Amino acid sequence: MAVMLHLSLMETPPDMPVIYVITPTHMRPTQKADLTRLGNTLRQVPNLHWIVVEDAEVKSLKVTKFLLNSRIPYTHLNAPKPDYCQSGCVARGSEQRNLGMDWLRQNRGPLDSGVVYFGDDDNTYDLELFEEMRYTKQVSVWPVGLIAARWYERPLVRDGKVVGWYTGFPGRKFGTDMAGFAVNLNLILANPEARFVLKGAQSGMQESDFLSKLTKLEYLEPKANNCTKILVWHTRTESAPLYKHVKEKNVDIEA
Ligand code: UDP
Ligand code: MN
Repeated sequence: MAVMLHLSLMETPPDMPVIYVITPTHMRPTQKADLTRLGNTLRQVPNLHWIVVEDAEVKSLKVTKFLLNSRIPYTHLNAPKPDYCQSGCVARGSEQRNLGMDWLRQNRGPLDSGVVYFGDDDNTYDLELFEEMRYTKQVSVWPVGLIAARWYERPLVRDGKVVGWYTGFPGRKFGTDMAGFAVNLNLILANPEARFVLKGAQSGMQESDFLSKLTKLEYLEPKANNCTKILVWHTRTESAPLYKHVKEKNVDIEA
Protein backbone atom coordinates (compact mmCIF):
# COMPACT_ATOMS: atom_id res chain seq x y z
CA MET A 1 0.00 0.00 0.00
CA ALA A 2 2.78 2.39 0.98
CA VAL A 3 4.58 1.56 -2.25
CA MET A 4 1.44 2.18 -4.32
CA LEU A 5 0.93 5.56 -2.71
CA HIS A 6 4.52 6.51 -3.34
CA LEU A 7 4.24 5.55 -7.01
CA SER A 8 1.02 7.45 -7.62
CA LEU A 9 2.48 10.55 -5.98
CA MET A 10 5.48 10.30 -8.27
CA GLU A 11 3.23 10.01 -11.31
CA THR A 12 1.28 13.17 -10.54
CA PRO A 13 3.53 15.81 -9.00
CA PRO A 14 1.51 18.51 -7.24
CA ASP A 15 2.54 21.21 -9.71
CA MET A 16 1.32 19.28 -12.76
CA PRO A 17 -1.38 21.37 -14.51
CA VAL A 18 -4.81 19.78 -14.60
CA ILE A 19 -6.32 19.02 -18.00
CA TYR A 20 -9.99 20.05 -18.05
CA VAL A 21 -11.78 18.28 -20.88
CA ILE A 22 -15.19 19.79 -21.64
CA THR A 23 -17.41 17.31 -23.47
CA PRO A 24 -20.89 18.19 -24.73
CA THR A 25 -22.98 15.09 -25.16
CA HIS A 26 -26.53 14.40 -26.27
CA MET A 27 -28.88 11.48 -26.50
CA ARG A 28 -28.19 9.51 -29.66
CA PRO A 29 -27.94 5.77 -30.34
CA THR A 30 -24.15 5.86 -30.15
CA GLN A 31 -23.92 8.01 -27.01
CA LYS A 32 -22.99 5.28 -24.53
CA ALA A 33 -20.55 3.67 -26.96
CA ASP A 34 -18.93 7.05 -27.65
CA LEU A 35 -18.67 7.92 -23.95
CA THR A 36 -17.31 4.46 -23.14
CA ARG A 37 -14.56 4.81 -25.72
CA LEU A 38 -13.71 8.33 -24.61
CA GLY A 39 -13.77 7.33 -20.93
CA ASN A 40 -11.37 4.47 -21.63
CA THR A 41 -8.97 7.04 -23.07
CA LEU A 42 -9.35 9.74 -20.43
CA ARG A 43 -9.01 7.29 -17.53
CA GLN A 44 -5.40 6.78 -18.53
CA VAL A 45 -4.46 10.46 -18.38
CA PRO A 46 -3.06 11.67 -15.05
CA ASN A 47 -4.40 14.88 -13.49
CA LEU A 48 -7.41 15.14 -15.73
CA HIS A 49 -10.85 16.48 -14.80
CA TRP A 50 -13.69 15.63 -17.14
CA ILE A 51 -16.53 18.15 -17.43
CA VAL A 52 -19.39 16.36 -19.11
CA VAL A 53 -22.26 18.61 -20.15
CA GLU A 54 -25.45 16.96 -21.28
CA ASP A 55 -27.58 18.71 -23.85
CA ALA A 56 -30.74 18.00 -21.88
CA GLU A 57 -33.35 19.55 -19.57
CA VAL A 58 -32.37 17.10 -16.83
CA LYS A 59 -29.38 14.85 -16.28
CA SER A 60 -30.01 11.38 -17.68
CA LEU A 61 -29.71 8.22 -15.64
CA LYS A 62 -27.55 6.77 -18.41
CA VAL A 63 -24.83 9.40 -18.17
CA THR A 64 -25.13 9.67 -14.38
CA LYS A 65 -24.49 5.93 -13.95
CA PHE A 66 -21.79 5.92 -16.57
CA LEU A 67 -19.85 8.69 -14.79
CA LEU A 68 -20.29 7.16 -11.33
CA ASN A 69 -18.61 4.00 -12.61
CA SER A 70 -16.02 5.76 -14.75
CA ARG A 71 -13.16 6.09 -12.22
CA ILE A 72 -12.36 9.50 -13.71
CA PRO A 73 -12.57 12.75 -11.69
CA TYR A 74 -15.56 14.52 -13.21
CA THR A 75 -18.21 17.20 -13.01
CA HIS A 76 -21.61 16.42 -14.51
CA LEU A 77 -23.65 19.37 -15.78
CA ASN A 78 -26.60 19.82 -18.08
CA ALA A 79 -28.10 22.57 -20.21
CA PRO A 80 -30.60 22.20 -23.01
CA LYS A 81 -29.86 23.94 -26.27
CA PRO A 82 -31.78 27.20 -26.61
CA ASP A 83 -35.20 27.15 -28.28
CA TYR A 84 -33.95 28.72 -31.49
CA CYS A 85 -31.57 25.73 -31.88
CA GLN A 86 -34.10 22.98 -31.20
CA SER A 87 -34.50 22.15 -34.87
CA GLY A 88 -30.74 22.19 -35.44
CA CYS A 89 -28.02 24.72 -34.86
CA VAL A 90 -24.65 25.19 -36.54
CA ALA A 91 -23.06 25.64 -33.10
CA ARG A 92 -23.67 22.05 -32.00
CA GLY A 93 -22.63 21.57 -28.36
CA SER A 94 -21.68 25.20 -27.76
CA GLU A 95 -24.30 26.07 -25.16
CA GLN A 96 -22.84 23.14 -23.25
CA ARG A 97 -19.22 24.24 -23.81
CA ASN A 98 -20.13 27.68 -22.47
CA LEU A 99 -21.63 26.10 -19.36
CA GLY A 100 -18.45 24.10 -18.84
CA MET A 101 -16.44 27.33 -18.95
CA ASP A 102 -18.92 29.01 -16.56
CA TRP A 103 -18.29 26.19 -14.10
CA LEU A 104 -14.54 26.72 -14.33
CA ARG A 105 -14.95 30.49 -13.86
CA GLN A 106 -17.01 29.86 -10.72
CA ASN A 107 -15.00 27.01 -9.27
CA ARG A 108 -11.38 27.69 -10.16
CA GLY A 109 -9.18 30.73 -9.56
CA PRO A 110 -5.92 32.35 -10.61
CA LEU A 111 -3.88 30.10 -8.33
CA ASP A 112 -5.07 26.97 -10.15
CA SER A 113 -2.92 25.79 -13.01
CA GLY A 114 -4.54 23.96 -15.86
CA VAL A 115 -5.49 23.77 -19.49
CA VAL A 116 -8.94 23.59 -21.08
CA TYR A 117 -9.77 21.35 -24.03
CA PHE A 118 -13.07 20.90 -25.87
CA GLY A 119 -13.27 17.17 -26.52
CA ASP A 120 -16.38 16.00 -28.38
CA ASP A 121 -17.71 12.59 -27.44
CA ASP A 122 -17.22 10.91 -30.82
CA ASN A 123 -13.64 11.89 -31.69
CA THR A 124 -10.56 9.67 -31.32
CA TYR A 125 -7.74 10.85 -29.07
CA ASP A 126 -4.14 9.59 -28.85
CA LEU A 127 -2.92 9.67 -25.23
CA GLU A 128 0.12 11.64 -26.37
CA LEU A 129 -2.16 14.57 -27.25
CA PHE A 130 -2.85 15.27 -23.59
CA GLU A 131 0.81 15.58 -22.67
CA GLU A 132 1.33 17.85 -25.67
CA MET A 133 -1.35 20.25 -24.40
CA ARG A 134 -0.70 20.07 -20.66
CA TYR A 135 1.84 22.90 -20.42
CA THR A 136 0.02 25.30 -22.78
CA LYS A 137 1.01 28.87 -21.87
CA GLN A 138 -1.83 30.62 -23.72
CA VAL A 139 -3.26 28.74 -26.68
CA SER A 140 -1.71 25.67 -28.28
CA VAL A 141 -2.66 24.16 -31.65
CA TRP A 142 -2.09 20.96 -33.65
CA PRO A 143 -3.49 19.03 -36.63
CA VAL A 144 -6.87 17.27 -36.65
CA GLY A 145 -7.35 14.16 -38.76
CA LEU A 146 -10.32 13.12 -40.92
CA ILE A 147 -11.98 16.46 -41.32
CA ALA A 148 -13.40 18.75 -44.01
CA ALA A 149 -13.24 15.92 -46.56
CA ARG A 150 -9.49 15.69 -45.97
CA TRP A 151 -7.16 13.30 -44.26
CA TYR A 152 -6.30 16.18 -41.96
CA GLU A 153 -6.27 19.93 -41.44
CA ARG A 154 -3.31 21.56 -39.75
CA PRO A 155 -1.63 24.79 -38.74
CA LEU A 156 1.28 25.70 -41.03
CA VAL A 157 4.43 26.39 -39.07
CA ARG A 158 7.53 28.33 -40.07
CA ASP A 159 10.48 28.85 -37.71
CA GLY A 160 8.39 27.58 -34.82
CA LYS A 161 5.51 30.03 -35.45
CA VAL A 162 2.07 29.43 -36.91
CA VAL A 163 1.84 31.34 -40.20
CA GLY A 164 -1.35 29.94 -41.71
CA TRP A 165 -3.58 26.89 -42.11
CA TYR A 166 -3.98 23.92 -44.39
CA THR A 167 -7.76 23.69 -44.33
CA GLY A 168 -10.80 22.81 -46.39
CA PHE A 169 -12.47 26.00 -45.23
CA PRO A 170 -10.08 28.90 -45.81
CA GLY A 171 -10.73 32.54 -44.99
CA ARG A 172 -10.83 32.04 -41.24
CA LYS A 173 -8.32 33.77 -38.99
CA PHE A 174 -7.96 30.50 -37.04
CA GLY A 175 -8.55 27.61 -39.43
CA THR A 176 -8.96 24.95 -36.80
CA ASP A 177 -11.63 22.61 -35.47
CA MET A 178 -12.68 22.45 -31.83
CA ALA A 179 -10.42 19.40 -31.41
CA GLY A 180 -7.34 21.27 -32.64
CA PHE A 181 -6.56 23.65 -29.79
CA ALA A 182 -6.31 24.01 -26.01
CA VAL A 183 -6.39 27.14 -23.85
CA ASN A 184 -4.61 27.86 -20.60
CA LEU A 185 -7.09 27.86 -17.71
CA ASN A 186 -6.11 31.33 -16.54
CA LEU A 187 -6.67 32.80 -19.99
CA ILE A 188 -10.23 31.43 -19.86
CA LEU A 189 -10.74 32.79 -16.34
CA ALA A 190 -9.34 36.22 -17.23
CA ASN A 191 -11.55 36.59 -20.32
CA PRO A 192 -15.16 35.98 -19.28
CA GLU A 193 -16.35 37.49 -22.58
CA ALA A 194 -14.74 34.59 -24.43
CA ARG A 195 -17.78 32.40 -25.13
CA PHE A 196 -19.17 30.53 -28.09
CA VAL A 197 -21.83 32.46 -29.96
CA LEU A 198 -24.96 30.51 -30.86
CA LYS A 199 -27.42 33.08 -32.08
CA GLY A 200 -26.76 33.94 -35.70
CA ALA A 201 -23.58 31.85 -35.64
CA GLN A 202 -22.10 31.26 -39.08
CA SER A 203 -21.36 27.68 -40.00
CA GLY A 204 -17.75 26.74 -39.29
CA MET A 205 -16.83 30.04 -37.65
CA GLN A 206 -17.25 29.31 -33.96
CA GLU A 207 -13.70 28.17 -33.24
CA SER A 208 -12.19 31.12 -35.09
CA ASP A 209 -14.54 33.65 -33.49
CA PHE A 210 -13.81 32.23 -30.05
CA LEU A 211 -10.03 32.20 -30.47
CA SER A 212 -10.11 35.77 -31.84
CA LYS A 213 -11.27 36.89 -28.40
CA LEU A 214 -8.32 35.22 -26.70
CA THR A 215 -5.20 35.49 -28.81
CA LYS A 216 -3.47 36.37 -32.07
CA LEU A 217 -2.01 34.09 -34.70
CA GLU A 218 1.57 34.96 -33.78
CA TYR A 219 1.10 33.88 -30.16
CA LEU A 220 -0.12 30.35 -30.96
CA GLU A 221 2.02 27.53 -29.61
CA PRO A 222 2.38 24.79 -32.24
CA LYS A 223 2.46 21.27 -30.75
CA ALA A 224 2.78 17.74 -32.13
CA ASN A 225 6.22 18.20 -33.64
CA ASN A 226 5.51 21.55 -35.30
CA CYS A 227 2.06 20.30 -36.30
CA THR A 228 3.30 17.34 -38.33
CA LYS A 229 1.71 14.58 -36.21
CA ILE A 230 -1.96 13.66 -36.12
CA LEU A 231 -2.92 12.90 -32.52
CA VAL A 232 -6.68 13.46 -32.75
CA TRP A 233 -9.21 12.42 -35.38
CA HIS A 234 -12.60 13.97 -36.04
CA THR A 235 -14.24 10.57 -36.32
CA ARG A 236 -18.03 10.65 -36.45
CA THR A 237 -20.33 7.93 -35.31
CA GLU A 238 -23.07 6.68 -37.61
CA SER A 239 -26.16 8.83 -37.59
CA ALA A 240 -29.44 7.80 -36.04
CA PRO A 241 -31.36 6.32 -39.03
CA LEU A 242 -29.01 3.33 -39.09
CA TYR A 243 -30.34 2.34 -35.66
CA LYS A 244 -34.01 3.01 -36.26
CA HIS A 245 -35.18 -0.17 -34.53
CA VAL A 246 -34.84 1.33 -31.12
CA LYS A 247 -35.55 -1.37 -28.53
CA GLU A 248 -37.65 -4.40 -27.74
CA LYS A 249 -40.94 -3.50 -26.17
CA ASN A 250 -41.39 -4.17 -22.45
CA VAL A 251 -37.80 -5.32 -21.91
CA ASP A 252 -35.51 -3.32 -19.66
CA ILE A 253 -32.15 -3.05 -21.43
CA GLU A 254 -29.40 -0.65 -20.46
CA ALA A 255 -28.01 0.70 -23.73
N1 UDP B 1 -23.96 17.70 -29.44
C1 UDP B 1 -24.86 18.18 -28.50
N2 UDP B 1 -26.14 18.52 -28.93
C2 UDP B 1 -26.53 18.40 -30.24
C3 UDP B 1 -25.61 17.94 -31.18
C4 UDP B 1 -24.34 17.60 -30.75
O1 UDP B 1 -24.53 18.28 -27.32
O2 UDP B 1 -27.69 18.72 -30.54
C5 UDP B 1 -22.60 17.34 -29.01
C6 UDP B 1 -22.12 15.97 -29.50
O3 UDP B 1 -22.47 14.95 -28.59
C7 UDP B 1 -20.64 16.18 -29.67
C8 UDP B 1 -20.54 17.66 -30.07
O4 UDP B 1 -21.74 18.28 -29.58
O5 UDP B 1 -19.92 15.97 -28.47
C9 UDP B 1 -20.42 17.87 -31.57
O6 UDP B 1 -21.54 17.28 -32.21
P1 UDP B 1 -21.38 16.23 -33.41
O7 UDP B 1 -20.36 15.20 -33.06
O8 UDP B 1 -22.74 15.76 -33.80
O9 UDP B 1 -20.83 17.24 -34.52
P2 UDP B 1 -19.88 16.96 -35.77
O10 UDP B 1 -18.80 16.04 -35.35
O11 UDP B 1 -20.77 16.34 -36.77
O12 UDP B 1 -19.40 18.33 -36.13
MN1 MN C 1 -18.51 14.70 -33.86
